[in-house]
Parts: sequence; C-alpha cells; structure tokens
Amino acid sequence: MNQEIVQIYKEFDKNSLTSFFENLLNFIKKYDETFKLYVFKDSLEAIEKFQKHEFYLGTTDDNLEGLALFYSKEMFKATEKEICGNVVHMIWDVATFMTDELCPSCQDSNLKIASSTDQNNIYKTCDNCLITIEKGQFIERPEEMIPATRKQVDYFLEN
Ligand SMILES: [Zn+2]
Repeated sequence: MNQEIVQIYKEFDKNSLTSFFENLLNFIKKYDETFKLYVFKDSLEAIEKFQKHEFYLGTTDDNLEGLALFYSKEMFKATEKEICGNVVHMIWDVATFMTDELCPSCQDSNLKIASSTDQNNIYKTCDNCLITIEKGQFIERPEEMIPATRKQVDYFLEN
C-alpha cells in the first residue's frame, strides 16, 4: 500500500490532474476494505462513486505539487490509517471547488463549495477556520462533507 501511494504522489503532474485524481480513486477502490476501517461509511461510498470528469479539479490556491511531493516522502513509512486519511484529504484538496468569496469569519481563505454525502445539501465552508454556511445561515460543520460536483457548483453559483 505504501509503495503504491508513494508512486501516485511521485507521478503527480499539475497538467494532468484528471489522471492524478483517477489514480487516487482507483487506489481507494482497490483498498476499499482498508479504507472502510478508517473513513466514514457514507463518505467512502460517495467517493467510490466519483467520476473523474464530474468535478472541477485544482481550483484552490493550494500548492498541490508541493503537497504531493511532501506526501510522496511522508507516505513511505505511514500507517494504513494515515494513508487512508491522507488520500481522502487529498481528494478534498483536489476536487473541492473554491469560490472567489473571502471567508467572512477569518478573512484568510476563500470559501469552498461542499456537499452532504447524499448530495442533497450544499454548503460553503472555510478550510482555515471551519465555519460552514448553509442557505445563508451559519451551521455547525457537518462531520462528513464531500466535494460538490460541477453540476452542484454550477447550480449553486447560478442561484
Ligand atoms: Zn475562515
């Protein structure tokens, strides 16, 4: 498991985020039994259904290349639990759409658009201070959130 995730991170190319994303999704499906031990069930089931073209990839200001390089070293000796947490986190970083809207609370990061695992609710959330907004109201950050799809993002931004 370590070798494989290290290899995926080593092969990171910012010009082919789609194949990087696909590699992560395939890795999760391949090690599904292990991910089940450490990742919330609904989140995992939703992520395993993700299709690579359904998402806006790489819209954040995160330095994904730097992260991938860093993780390619970190994952070498990581535990299974750490790998699972790391990969799900990376899915979030790559596929969660970032808006132009500055976080009203910390004013240090832009808000991202996330979804509930059943894809019925859409949230704006800040990865920096963790505030979460649903239909204009501040709510407690849900335990489980997944990246919003292109369709959800487009719909959200139009309304
Ligand atoms: Zn914030």
